[in-house]
Amino acid sequence: MNTRIILNVLRLRRQLRRRDRWSRRQLEAHQAHALRLLREHAYARSPFYRRFHAGLLDRPLTELPVLTKAQVMESFYELVTNPSVRLADVEAHVATLHGNERFRRRYWVASTSGSTGHRGLFLWNLVEWTTVLASYNRSFDWAGSRAGLTRRTKMAVVSSTTPWHQSARVGASVQSPWVPTLRLDSGDPVESIVERLNAWQPEVLVAYASMIRLLAEEQLAGRLHISPEFVFSASEVLTDRARRHAEAAWDKKPFDVYAATETAGIASECDLHQGMHLFEDLVITEVVDEDNRPVAPGTYGEKVLVTVLFSRTLPLIRYEMSDSVRLSAYPYCPCGRPFALIDGVQGRVEDVLHFPATSGGQVTVQPALFHRVMDTVPASGWQVVQEPNGLTVLLSGVREGFADAALADSLRREVAAQGAIVPSVKVRRVSAISRTGAGKAPLIKAGVT
Ligand SMILES: [Zn+2]
Repeated sequence: MNTRIILNVLRLRRQLRRRDRWSRRQLEAHQAHALRLLREHAYARSPFYRRFHAGLLDRPLTELPVLTKAQVMESFYELVTNPSVRLADVEAHVATLHGNERFRRRYWVASTSGSTGHRGLFLWNLVEWTTVLASYNRSFDWAGSRAGLTRRTKMAVVSSTTPWHQSARVGASVQSPWVPTLRLDSGDPVESIVERLNAWQPEVLVAYASMIRLLAEEQLAGRLHISPEFVFSASEVLTDRARRHAEAAWDKKPFDVYAATETAGIASECDLHQGMHLFEDLVITEVVDEDNRPVAPGTYGEKVLVTVLFSRTLPLIRYEMSDSVRLSAYPYCPCGRPFALIDGVQGRVEDVLHFPATSGGQVTVQPALFHRVMDTVPASGWQVVQEPNGLTVLLSGVREGFADAALADSLRREVAAQGAIVPSVKVRRVSAISRTGAGKAPLIKAGVT
């Protein structure tokens, strides 16, 4: 089975490569055509969309209502285009997953971890799944790595090994003699991850951003000894410091990848590192404010609305994700690809913290402020947690001579400069930043309210 899928992915890769040379106009024509096919399919097969878009069937995308994860899960049975697929059966299937099994031998299923409140279940047939895999492979391809598919390449992936996460499902699908992959759980102790990476000596390293930073520190400290040709940061925010550390550690610029379970790959850096090119031929990404109005390039949006052009089993049209991203004010990259660039992902809206304002009411403080201050801290990991009585900053692996009090002062000053009543700031040293069930270590955790 895997061989067949890999051959399909290779075929699709050739097709995707041709799109790198498209003009903007060709890309837009493709989007319009693919969107029309998606909508026709949804209206023919999904009772949910017929109702949800009633009276709007021929209106432009931007006039359609926004779909939330809660709606997808509540209306799953009507939204899915195969009426025999029932949520309870899909859930039962997911609970037994441990490898590359398919639901009813036909659908690959992955679940989102529910870090934003609702757990989501998504499924893909063979054609869709091939596109999911090809979208991830595109990141390797753009970086210039022939990882795995045509040349045997040793890979190491440090992420979630929970079997129902998409990364684990993708791993199980491409596992083959061509892609010998060491999969490590980012929740494991660092010493054990370092030891196993040293033994494996990967040519390609893929990890969550927080793990890239930690591993770069380990390499610089002389405990990790690997020399990957390519380093990919998937998921979480890759801050400037993490980027610089990775470069110092391995003498390679890391490649940032933006992806989500619902969409698979959304954007990725090319080898010129001018930001991430959106995969606009696969997903239409609208960067919007809280009222779903488009946000101009150069400004962070509150969320993104994604339309997954290849989705058929569970069509996703203007599906809301709470990522705060910024379209580049300099839209094109010298590589000549027609795909728009995003030059910043500052995390999810949940990462925006609210503080009482000196003038009454509330002020919001953007994640970027904390990234900027915390990036100067010589630590292997950090997390800012907002609690009812102020901020707690967790630091791990802090180098000697660092003054916690100075950090607390500078955070108080920065937050005060936003017009907030100065919060209490506590700095706490921990042996490691604890990870979520999905193996992630968010940089900012909004308070218990
Ligand atoms: Zn480029």
